[in-house]
Amino acid sequence: MTSQRTRTRMIDRLREEGIRDERVLAAIAAVPRHVFVEEALASRAYEDSALPLGYSQTISQPYIVARMIELLLDARKLGKTLEIGAGSGYQAAVLAQLTDEVYAIERIEPLLARAKLNLRAIQQFKVRLKHADGQLGLPEAAPFDTIILAAAATRVPHALLQQLALGGRMLLPLGTGEQFLLMVERRAEGYVETRLDSVRFVPLLSGLE
Ligand code: SAH
Repeated sequence: MTSQRTRTRMIDRLREEGIRDERVLAAIAAVPRHVFVEEALASRAYEDSALPLGYSQTISQPYIVARMIELLLDARKLGKTLEIGAGSGYQAAVLAQLTDEVYAIERIEPLLARAKLNLRAIQQFKVRLKHADGQLGLPEAAPFDTIILAAAATRVPHALLQQLALGGRMLLPLGTGEQFLLMVERRAEGYVETRLDSVRFVPLLSGLE
């Protein structure tokens, strides 16, 4: 069930679904997703679906992880990266295949603790995890070349705009009912926003649990 063949099939499927960036496909192939899902669901870890993490949260679908990272990469490097909504730590582990500096924030403490264990289990020690409200970003490590949100905001968090480096990119799901991905690029002349794919994410919430 967690055989190499099952994982290879997942990569083939991502390719069929339109993921083209070989760096992204290699990063996804390198992370054993079954480690990040509950044991009872491990047999489904390489299906292209979101799976429950507990606490009403879900580990993102591999396609959306791949798609978002592909959009962020687009002929550049990720550089110093901030993820909001670490959840299981899965996406952070994929990001860590592509860049040396990854910070990931989670507001639900037990999930963060599990993310820590999951990352340790795969010997991934690069990701720096923090229990905090990601809407406030991580001022002590800013600016970031890349910011990626794994939960849907109702508007672009102001602190995150401020913590985006010049030339940097932020990708976030936006909206309540209908959601779409919004790319925000910070250029010398200002912030440039581009509306992309329709998506469905859990909401970005305030405060800590
Ligand atoms: N990237 C995760 C997906 C987790 S789902 C993975 O690969 O498993 C989105 C996560 O965002 C949830 O764990 C949720 O608790 C978290 N979240 C929601 N609002 C947040 C906030 N303001 N700050 C930090 N994390 C938040």
